[in-house]
Amino acid sequence: MLLLSRVSCFFEQFWEGLLDIVYPPFCLVCGKPGDQYLCTECANRIEIIEYPYCSRCGIPRTDSQGSHCECSGRNYHFVQARCVGIYDGVLRDAIHAFKYDLQTAMTEPLAQLMVREFPRLYPGLKPDLVVPVPIHRDRFLERGFNQSGELALRIAAALRFPFDERLMKKEKKTLDQVGLPESQRSLNLQGAFVVTHTRDVWGKKVLLIDDVFTTGATANEVAKALRWAGAASVYVYALARSV
Ligand SMILES: [Zn+2]
Ligand SMILES: [Zn+2]
Repeated sequence: MLLLSRVSCFFEQFWEGLLDIVYPPFCLVCGKPGDQYLCTECANRIEIIEYPYCSRCGIPRTDSQGSHCECSGRNYHFVQARCVGIYDGVLRDAIHAFKYDLQTAMTEPLAQLMVREFPRLYPGLKPDLVVPVPIHRDRFLERGFNQSGELALRIAAALRFPFDERLMKKEKKTLDQVGLPESQRSLNLQGAFVVTHTRDVWGKKVLLIDDVFTTGATANEVAKALRWAGAASVYVYALARSV
């Protein structure tokens, strides 16, 4: 699957290069022609999550609400979660273009945004390993790529962290989390993620990359599998936070 993913990445880049010659890039959010798939004006309209936010799950807070939200009652298997922006407006349109319309050209500007915000959201954090939230093989074949994998690959390369996407997989097909009541979200995901190369995870500080963090049920289930496999700690880093 790794080879398939890298080969498809090569062809994607080749194809995008070819497309750039025939059809020069335009902003995939507002349609304005230019040299980027996410224009500067649209990028500036993304609602970035600034402090104060919950020190545990990263949800935006007001000063008067204190540093923890109601997540203190939740059993998280990760240490912290941080998200770059609010899942709304430009960021939601950009993620839709990226995820559902197969616009892989959007990967680059979104990954760059995550690279730019990383030192602010996780100052001094140096993970031993970067892994994406895996998707099921059928979904991968249908879509042709794992959106979190594409982000994780670029973040790890830019920040010079070790990256491995073949050490775990999503074994069980699950219902789409969107539209499921919160009470059923963890149940739906139970046992879905499996670490296949436990030796590569053992004792490591892992940075888990996700695209959209909603209740955290998916990231939490992946973190649980990583911890069971012996990971020392898991930090979640997501592109968008739905609030
Ligand atoms: Zn634009
Ligand atoms: Zn919280």
